[in-house]
Amino acid sequence: MTDDVNTDGTKEAEKRISVLRARIRQWDFAYYGLDSPMVNDYEYDMAVRELKELEDNVSEASRLDSPSTRVGGFVSELFSPVRHVIPMQSLDNVFSDDELFFWMAKVERALEDRLGTLSGDSIDLVFELKIDGLALALSYERGILTRAATRGDGVTGEDVTANVMTIDVIPKELPEEFKDLDLEVRGEIYMPVAAFLSHNDYVTKLLESGSLTARDKLKLFANPRNAAAGSLRQKDPKVTRSRHLSFFPYQVAYCSGHEFTSHVESLEFLSTLGFTLNPNVERVHGIDAVLSRLKRWSVDRHLLDYEIDGAVVKLDSIALRDAVGTTSRAPRWAIAYKFPPQEKSTKLERISVSIGKTGRATPFAELIPVQISGSEVALATLHNSAQVAFKDLREGDTVIVRKAGDVIPEVVAPILEFRPKSSTPWEFPDRCPVCGELLFRIEGEVDWYCPNFECPAQVVARIAHFASRGAMDIAGLGETNAQRFYDLGLVRTAADLYFLQKEDLLKLEGFKEKSAAQLIDAIEKSRTRPLDRLLVALTIRHVGAVASQALALRFGTLSALFEATPEEIASVDGIGETIAMGVVAFFADGKNRAMIDRLMQGGVNPTSNLPVVAQSNLLSGKSFVVTGTLSRYSRVEAEQAIRNAGGRVISSVSSKTYAVVVGIEPGDSKINKANALGIPQIDEETFSRLLDSGS
Ligand code: NAD
Repeated sequence: MTDDVNTDGTKEAEKRISVLRARIRQWDFAYYGLDSPMVNDYEYDMAVRELKELEDNVSEASRLDSPSTRVGGFVSELFSPVRHVIPMQSLDNVFSDDELFFWMAKVERALEDRLGTLSGDSIDLVFELKIDGLALALSYERGILTRAATRGDGVTGEDVTANVMTIDVIPKELPEEFKDLDLEVRGEIYMPVAAFLSHNDYVTKLLESGSLTARDKLKLFANPRNAAAGSLRQKDPKVTRSRHLSFFPYQVAYCSGHEFTSHVESLEFLSTLGFTLNPNVERVHGIDAVLSRLKRWSVDRHLLDYEIDGAVVKLDSIALRDAVGTTSRAPRWAIAYKFPPQEKSTKLERISVSIGKTGRATPFAELIPVQISGSEVALATLHNSAQVAFKDLREGDTVIVRKAGDVIPEVVAPILEFRPKSSTPWEFPDRCPVCGELLFRIEGEVDWYCPNFECPAQVVARIAHFASRGAMDIAGLGETNAQRFYDLGLVRTAADLYFLQKEDLLKLEGFKEKSAAQLIDAIEKSRTRPLDRLLVALTIRHVGAVASQALALRFGTLSALFEATPEEIASVDGIGETIAMGVVAFFADGKNRAMIDRLMQGGVNPTSNLPVVAQSNLLSGKSFVVTGTLSRYSRVEAEQAIRNAGGRVISSVSSKTYAVVVGIEPGDSKINKANALGIPQIDEETFSRLLDSGS
């Protein structure tokens, strides 16, 4: 009977082992081969852990080819294979303080067995951040970088030398005094967070404008790690160059003629050779010192310009490392402490559509709430229909969610493995979910719009926008109150706000004497906001903060802008035809004019804190660079004066530059370039005369 139970248990375990192995192999291929993970790292790590535990209990299970015992990786046929003379290993993981203590105790025991008595405090440890990128081996022969290879499966990697040559921080040649050195350096290639966000921003814009073609070979990356891997493993080095990758070294694999006694010593040597070290490497004593740093970095990780997924703790002494040794997959002298995941999977219950202030219909995901980086995520914007189609997100999918740039929740991708059989692609609704009008699309744009200016969703969004910080800045009037006032019929357009009485508010639940008086006071103060802020507040198509400032600067009053011809508006520096058409269309609409009349009746009287400046075309067609400090003009004033006179201001000197305006302490590179190209350099006196006379 007992034997039967045991046999059944073993069979179950073996079944589970083969399921896990197959699943992990599939995830490995997606992660390493396609740079497109199917699950988040935590889920992956937990599956590997479960597999290891099962394999430990079922002795028959052959582990020779199990993903638990080998370095995960992939060697693409795009690149020539490179055999690593010294295999590139992975790291073992721990996920809690207890596990870290356990690792330390194991290391101490191993050292005691081999070397006699040792106490934890006497062992120097090195604390390093675990950069979330991919491992790279750089080989230098007689001081010259001759080969760069990815880790691959640890034994064979991919030759990515041509691509690595485009990465600025990697020395291509060692300093003169080390020109005879043969060296192999290992480290992490990573994509800085700023570069990752700007890449995804760029692709999003292409997607939104519908101009992304298969030929562009561009895609949204799930995270900076996949972005780094995808960008390094490119056929065309120019593409790699455009992705702004960077590199931190963390190991000397070999170095001719040099024996290091400690890890820190070897890193210092790399610094002498011209490598940029990660500044957050520290030699520490004891696990408590490690834990205090882990605590700090689990919070401060968001301040870094690169992503980390944990920390690595290493023995500093090379002799002690040799004494504890390695397994086939990872060294025993180092351990990765992984932080809790910033990505989680959850169920996408529904895809809904919200209507914004211009009527734009934006799809968003309603998720089963999950905790990510300390807050609950239940909603995430999906941007537009093109993005939903591109990611093939469907209602009922299990999806990976992360916080993009650590703040905005983003649905990264569906996990196809868990997709219900009955699932169908999501389709954009025909009608506005709020007012029921048929949605329409503007030609050439990817977005759908609700055409109904009176649609309650649009009206409420416009009122909330009118009161927001960058617009009329009415403290205490957010989306919730805007919706309430609208539902109660108190406010139907933003202009109605100026007719609200304290008594109206006191009738509403939640308003007391003080809060009602504060809101009325905030509305009062907003009556004299500058013109540019009122222009932002009005929701004029294509007119944001920058265009509003330019228009306010040029026209000074709302009525002057109202009377301006489309040509006059379009000729304002930084405006152009599209914005001009937006302005003209806004004023041509009777409903908007009625709202503006009511705003005026309500006492809205924008101040003009921006000087009204006369325009000329004295400098038309001429480009200027301004460098250094001028005495009579601030930089902004000098540049504005050039623009007002019809000239252009550019940031760098080229052969097309008309003149460089030179103040005190000018930029060296600008002066050198102007000298090289023979571009006239003028002082402040000449600049003033130029503004008066044009020559
Ligand atoms: P790993 O990323 O857990 O740790 C080893 C790697 O850490 C090294 O190879 C090196 O590249 C890197 N590293 C960064 N900073 C370092 C430092 N200061 N010192 C030393 N090494 C440093 O292991 P791995 O074998 O590269 O990858 C396995 C991990 O990748 C898994 O644990 C999992 O998190 C992830 N993974 C995820 C999926 C998925 O589908 N989500 C699939 C496969 C692997």
